[in-house]
Amino acid sequence: MTDAYRVLVTGSRLWADRAAVEHQLRIAAAEAERDGKRPVLVHGQCDPRHPDTRRLIPWDTAKRMSWEVQGRYLGGDWLAEWCALNFTRVRWEIERHPADWAAPCRGTCPSRSHRITGRDGVSLCPAAGPYRNEEMVALGADVCLAFVLDGSRGASGCADLADKAGIVLRRFPARAYLT
Ligand SMILES: [Zn+2]
Repeated sequence: MTDAYRVLVTGSRLWADRAAVEHQLRIAAAEAERDGKRPVLVHGQCDPRHPDTRRLIPWDTAKRMSWEVQGRYLGGDWLAEWCALNFTRVRWEIERHPADWAAPCRGTCPSRSHRITGRDGVSLCPAAGPYRNEEMVALGADVCLAFVLDGSRGASGCADLADKAGIVLRRFPARAYLT
């Protein structure tokens, strides 16, 4: 078994530039090959958004759509996985780290009252995303690709963590008008 070349992707939920994601994954795959490693895509499994309504589509629901439809959804994590699976010559391994929004608050939360009510009335910790990012970054990566739309906080925060952890960071800022 060859070593993993870990490519950590963090991306805004409304990221739409699939070509940019594909291009960067292609570069990362070439680096993996150069190093004699197998490419592993690591991401936070943020649910994609519909390109017209911008409504959230649960990950598993989205996965049941046709391949073409899936490729039009928005979101950095989603599009990275779509592109990775769409490569024909390179076989990407995928490692997903979904946030546990319904988990109990932690001592580091500002307060328990910061919880919000999600769909189906479930109580959610808004810090679950940042906690997940910390844990995901702590697992290490060879490179972090950050697709950040309009400076969105989640993706920027994860990119900053990766940078601090000494992971090679490639940041791709974009403005929503490009979509
Ligand atoms: Zn909390």
